[in-house]
Amino acid sequence: MALDRLFRRRRTRGGGREVPELWVRCPRCDAQVYKRDLEQNLWVCPECGYHHRVPVETYVAVLADPDSFEPTTGKVRPTDPLGFVDTEPYPERLARYQQKTGRPDAIYGGRATIGGVPSVLLVMDYAFAGGSMGSVVGEEIARGAELAAAENRALVIVTASGGARMQEGALSLMQMAKTTMALDLVFAKRLPYLAVLTDPTTGGVTASFATLADVILAEPGALIGFAGPRVIKQTIRQDLPEGFQRSEFLKKQGLVDEVVDRRRLRETVVRFLRLLYPGEVDAA
Ligand SMILES: [Zn+2]
Repeated sequence: MALDRLFRRRRTRGGGREVPELWVRCPRCDAQVYKRDLEQNLWVCPECGYHHRVPVETYVAVLADPDSFEPTTGKVRPTDPLGFVDTEPYPERLARYQQKTGRPDAIYGGRATIGGVPSVLLVMDYAFAGGSMGSVVGEEIARGAELAAAENRALVIVTASGGARMQEGALSLMQMAKTTMALDLVFAKRLPYLAVLTDPTTGGVTASFATLADVILAEPGALIGFAGPRVIKQTIRQDLPEGFQRSEFLKKQGLVDEVVDRRRLRETVVRFLRLLYPGEVDAA
């Protein structure tokens, strides 16, 4: 009984205040890794290679050349066209995510050079409503593609999404068509578009811009699919193959071009961009 109280007291110490954790347990191999080591390793487990989810800023820091990033997103704000209420009104849900992330919606990006290649870099934010695609995410992807086409930049999108933003109903689904149309501007100018699929990339994002890229890269072990494995299993009433809908499986099937460890992400993206970018590149 005394022991039980001791543990209970330890757990609640701090009264809900944020206590910085020095150690992080790997959900795959159970290794306890010193947080600073994990950060230096770009949140890849040094024991088993598990890729932890990282904030959007990490991808910008990894991919953009130093001091080259200039944000362009954040001016479009979501609305509540349906007056949607589930367990809470949609505007309240949005306000919570906006406060948590400091951004109006689930995307962050702007102009950058990547290995000297002029680019537009967009990163989806899974921490904001599961990276779901509503009107704002779709609009920012479309604007990013338009900007790339207008300024002769490559387009690089890092995806993470649970699918459509259900609180925006059909307007959400419409973004699949809108983003697809906008990408045509990039393709018409023969500018490269690279997608980096991270865990998870599903639903309407997979079914539109994420899988339309010239080169589709994926982080190891990322769940990539349209419907989830459970739904598919229930529908076709068959057992699914081992590793179904994971990056490595999809590479074998031809949907993913390369599975890239996050620690090699920058060099891989730079290699493809320099190979495919039609303009002059200052490789310095
Ligand atoms: Zn591990």
